[in-house]
Amino acid sequence: MSTIFSQIVEGEIPARVVYEDETTFAFLDANPLSPGHTLVIPKDEYERLNDLPDDVATDLYATVQQLVPAVEDAVDADASTVAFNNGEAAGQEVPHVHCHIVPRFDGDDGGPIHAAMGGFADLGDDELDEIAADIESRA
Ligand code: 5GP
Repeated sequence: MSTIFSQIVEGEIPARVVYEDETTFAFLDANPLSPGHTLVIPKDEYERLNDLPDDVATDLYATVQQLVPAVEDAVDADASTVAFNNGEAAGQEVPHVHCHIVPRFDGDDGGPIHAAMGGFADLGDDELDEIAADIESRA
């Protein structure tokens, strides 16, 4: 069964489409966190960021980069929070990669991306060294 976002791409579910090219697609979020909240997706279904083939990842980023100023300018935003919920444990509800572009305004009630975790992780130097080395060995 195709994802709800694939159904939007196919025109089976209505959406306020703001951009489309051969491989990527963008539309307004149905439950906007702020005016102009936009979702940017690959047309083909991939669940998580690292499922994207390199060329699709490149296209997706190019569309995000193109749309951030377009979205900000359209709603006269001061900034934007640009984020992926990458996996269910991170809050991803639709299993089809999507980038949120959420316009932000001076004095709005939103927090920085750090607010998602509600606090800092308590990690010692040894743990941090170990984690850094582990990531470096896999990168
Ligand atoms: P997630 O939590 O997976 O990162 O975000 C999914 C987003 O998709 C949510 O912000 C939700 O409002 C949006 N969404 C879910 N269903 C639809 C839909 O049918 N149409 C549109 N335009 N947005 C949707």
